[in-house]
Amino acid sequence: MRAVDIIIKKRDKSELTREEIQFFVGGITDGSIPDYQTSAWAMAVLLNGMTPRETTDLTLAIAHSGETMDLSHLVKIAVDKHSTGGVGDKTSLVALPVVAACGLPVGKMSGRGLGFSGGTLDKLESIPGYRADLTVEEFERQLKEIGLVLCGQSKELAPADGKLYALRDVTGTVQSIPLIASSVMSKKIAGGAQAIVLDVKVGNGAFMENLEDARRLAGLMTQIGELAGRKVTALLSDMNQPLGHAVGNALEVREAIDTLRGAGPADFREHCLHVAAHMLVLGEVTSSLAQARALAEASIADGSALAKFRQLVGAQGGDVSYVDDPDKLPRAALVETVRAPRSGYLQQVQARRVGEASVSLGAGRARKGDPLDLSVGFVVHHKVGDAVGKGDPLFTVHAGDAAKRDAAIASGLAAHVIVDHPAPPLPLFYE
Ligand code: URA
Repeated sequence: MRAVDIIIKKRDKSELTREEIQFFVGGITDGSIPDYQTSAWAMAVLLNGMTPRETTDLTLAIAHSGETMDLSHLVKIAVDKHSTGGVGDKTSLVALPVVAACGLPVGKMSGRGLGFSGGTLDKLESIPGYRADLTVEEFERQLKEIGLVLCGQSKELAPADGKLYALRDVTGTVQSIPLIASSVMSKKIAGGAQAIVLDVKVGNGAFMENLEDARRLAGLMTQIGELAGRKVTALLSDMNQPLGHAVGNALEVREAIDTLRGAGPADFREHCLHVAAHMLVLGEVTSSLAQARALAEASIADGSALAKFRQLVGAQGGDVSYVDDPDKLPRAALVETVRAPRSGYLQQVQARRVGEASVSLGAGRARKGDPLDLSVGFVVHHKVGDAVGKGDPLFTVHAGDAAKRDAAIASGLAAHVIVDHPAPPLPLFYE
């Protein structure tokens, strides 16, 4: 078999066989297929799609590109969650410690920044020493010892996803239902989660811009998970405005710590509690969402969720003094607050624009392997539906230099649409 023939076949809209998909994923994994062929193939998949059968075969081939863990001998039910990617989406940093503090073990393989969306691993690396590349042995030991793991794919775990993901980030090939579904579900299957909550984002700051596409993605991922014998719940959540206030790696870690301390933006806290409650129900800690929600709230109120986050950071080599004192997190050289140019009601805070501007500030990558500026990003001060007065703080830009700051200010202003008439707030969840 030759990689070029498989690219041509997909370019010409034909269905790939399981053997062809396994050959291609094998070549990505062992490096015999170069980046330019992988990228061309990813573009052909983005343009021409895949059948559910092809997507399932792709998912399983990626999951089996490394080891697959079986956690059943370690814990009764290991639960996991995964978001399909959004702007300001730092949910894992709060929901996971909450769930683990409620006694349900969570072992999660997260991702890095993808397109205009941030990545949990990049965010965590704002804490010096934090190691995302755990071995299978380390993953299993930590899950047993502290009931919480937050790592990335590695040479041992779903290595093909790591390579494909890094190329998709910089080749305009993120927004593809089969590529997203296989990327997410391969990590969940390799990571051994028995119960999975999927947070499928929908809106201009998500890779699925409308409910119909988000439902298709959710349905496909649920089907793949169930085929692999996992319990799956999929939530469809809004991503038309940034989640919470902070967008940018260190800024988001700070907001997550604030939330674990019982403060933090109301929408973000609510989102995390809802996701955590679904995880607790799926993991059979409680049978009702209301009970699960009460447990989740209590873990924030009594400090056990924050203590669990601190334990996680320490277990993975991070400097826990950054959790105790978030002022130590990287800070940008230039910080400027921009004020509302007029009074009215916020009709839009366009998440996509804010996410793209944050990447341009240096929070995301333009080329594979680019270093990040962990300190930069935005803090938006209002949510859609808020009334604002002329001169009120609208958003704050954290930038490394004046040219990038000025460009980010222009994008931030364009992202905020203020109208004369009251604008309805956006829901957090659709379904
Ligand atoms: N998260 C992933 O792991 N992969 C995607 O493609 C999107 C979100």
